[in-house]
Amino acid sequence: MKAKVPFFDLTLQFKSIENEIKSALDEVFQSQQFIMGSQVQTLEKTIAQYCRTQYAMGVASGSDALLLSLMALGIEPGDEVLLPPFTFFATAGSVSRLGATPVFVDINPETYNIDPFKIEEKITSRTKAIIPVHLFGQCADMDPLLQIAQARKLFVIEDAAQALGAEYKPKADSEERRAGQMSDLGCFSFYPTKNLGAFGDAGMVVTSNLALSEKVRLLRAHGSQPKYFHQSIGVNSRLDTLQAAILLVKFKYLEKWTAERQKKAERYQVLFQDLCSWVHGFQRPTIQYQNRHIFHQYVIRVPKRDRLRQFLMEEGVGTDIYYPLPLHLQECYSFLKYHRGDLPISEKASEEVLALPIYPELTEDRQMKVVDRIKTFYKN
Ligand SMILES: *Cc1c(COP(=O)(O)O)cnc(C)c1O
Repeated sequence: MKAKVPFFDLTLQFKSIENEIKSALDEVFQSQQFIMGSQVQTLEKTIAQYCRTQYAMGVASGSDALLLSLMALGIEPGDEVLLPPFTFFATAGSVSRLGATPVFVDINPETYNIDPFKIEEKITSRTKAIIPVHLFGQCADMDPLLQIAQARKLFVIEDAAQALGAEYKPKADSEERRAGQMSDLGCFSFYPTKNLGAFGDAGMVVTSNLALSEKVRLLRAHGSQPKYFHQSIGVNSRLDTLQAAILLVKFKYLEKWTAERQKKAERYQVLFQDLCSWVHGFQRPTIQYQNRHIFHQYVIRVPKRDRLRQFLMEEGVGTDIYYPLPLHLQECYSFLKYHRGDLPISEKASEEVLALPIYPELTEDRQMKVVDRIKTFYKN
């Protein structure tokens, strides 16, 4: 039990696929097709099929996937876009980059995802779109959200950066749908720490709308078509061939890795069961069992969070906080004039959440150590 438990560790995963990765990279080196090589197209087809969409467009990052999706929908200054404040900055930043205004909607305290029943009250004549985030690998409650969007004629973009392969199935007799597949456009990130991670930045937009797919394709290459003739003003945001080659190798293991993550999450759930009864305010993640949660993160809610985190660090257990300050209270958004207390559920979550180590290679005894140290903390 002396061993350290890092919050995250990719080195073991790399060792297990090192040779495959190296030969995939070597193929790209030999071809010298670094921009839009054949691997990019193959990856796009692979991800579209996996997400059950017609089209997928590789882009330079998850942040750009959001930006390009908003651009494809024509979001512009004066427009308002509804999104949760309890997310990574890019969800809101992409809206602001286009001169539009992010309007924050509080979250569900169990799932940390946008609360669809708080959306309606935030809609104005300027509202153009909603961006639900499938946080930590579990889908937001999409059916009521899509119903509102349809009735009010709003676009929906899924921020599925943490949810590749997650599924939403609200009722026993309904068909499950994949993250990214349920709305106008779905956005993915292949940032190295995501469930499918590149060796650098990379991202993807998925859609089944042909016109939108063509717009994103155009905009990611400066709106150039044919080359050097520009119909619209885009950006330079392509997915590198080298990253695509790496992602194609890693994709073969994604299902296995997801199953491993789910197994670790189940184990945590069982090991923490007793803690829920003797530590007031201790909360395990709420798993909606009809859905497919892919456990990008395993996040608990705890009393004395910062003291626990410090204690765990001293004991050699790494943790992290997603997210310590909700977006409506960020300095860069002070001009939006939100105040503490405006979105109380997000604010409370940001003070209580703690992400524990969860990755396919996490061993059982290391996981036991994490749980054991947390129990030790609350016994004293
Ligand atoms: C990682 C992430 C992004 C951004 O992806 P990058 O590839 O890092 O640009 C956007 N939204 C969420 C919820 C994320 O977790």
